[in-house]
Amino acid sequence: MQRNFELRKVGLGVCGRDYGPPCAHENACVRCPFLRVDPAQKSRLEEIHANLIDRLAEAKQQGRLGEVAAIETTFAAADQKLQVMREAAARTSIVGLGMPSIRRTIGRSSEMTF
Ligand code: SF4
Repeated sequence: MQRNFELRKVGLGVCGRDYGPPCAHENACVRCPFLRVDPAQKSRLEEIHANLIDRLAEAKQQGRLGEVAAIETTFAAADQKLQVMREAAARTSIVGLGMPSIRRTIGRSSEMTF
């Protein structure tokens, strides 16, 4: 069982594909909808994202249109995964709820009549 979890680890996080079958996506994890990015790998994904911008500019400059389409697809997927990570981070930020007051607790109990 432990081995199954180890087999799910990929460079950017955890692979969510079914157990058993090998990766059918040629390990193109950045593009893959099965990838669940580990929040600890966010900076790595940002590096990949920045690198894709450079590669896209270079491919366009040199007229490599087939490569441009592939890089744009990968870039869109990386962009979407970063956006999801930012939204998740915003949702899980800590909200101060204040400390419970013992006076309020005592006040409530004193409202009870016996
Ligand atoms: S490409 Fe997708 S299915 Fe393949 S290892 Fe990466 S996340 Fe898993």
